[in-house]
Amino acid sequence: MPRRCTVCDHPERHSIDETLVTGAPYRSVAKRFGLSESAVYRHKTEHLPAHLLKAREAEEVAQADDLLDQVRHLQGHALDILERAEKAGDLRTALAAISQARGNLELLGKLAGELDERPVVNVLVSPEWLELRAVIVGALEPHPAARGAVLRAIEGGANGGA
Ligand SMILES: [Zn+2]
Repeated sequence: MPRRCTVCDHPERHSIDETLVTGAPYRSVAKRFGLSESAVYRHKTEHLPAHLLKAREAEEVAQADDLLDQVRHLQGHALDILERAEKAGDLRTALAAISQARGNLELLGKLAGELDERPVVNVLVSPEWLELRAVIVGALEPHPAARGAVLRAIEGGANGGA
């Protein structure tokens, strides 16, 4: 494991990241949060970009989820209109509703495909996960059976996820 980053470990890491993003000089950030300048500098150059990337991905996934909800909603309406038009014998409207529903389905398929490309496996190599894993395995030391089961489950998840 690389040496720990005092900024990443800092309870106010998010505030520090936000401050750094605004372009605040690392000297003043170090002073404000009681950190060494070199640690803040290293964090800013080596860790901050990854944090920002993660935040952006999370935001994009949230937006895609929202879009997915809206299309599902539209699809519900289209199917409702189709049903009513069919009952009323209004074939022209029924046809329009079918066409609309088909467009929604295509969009749903595309969105679902994009969402499936989420980097779900990344968590298994993140420092946070490795650390948590070490804590869990360590805590289960006095319970070899449970420890073995957890380890097998973790390894299974890791292999299956890739
Ligand atoms: Zn850091």
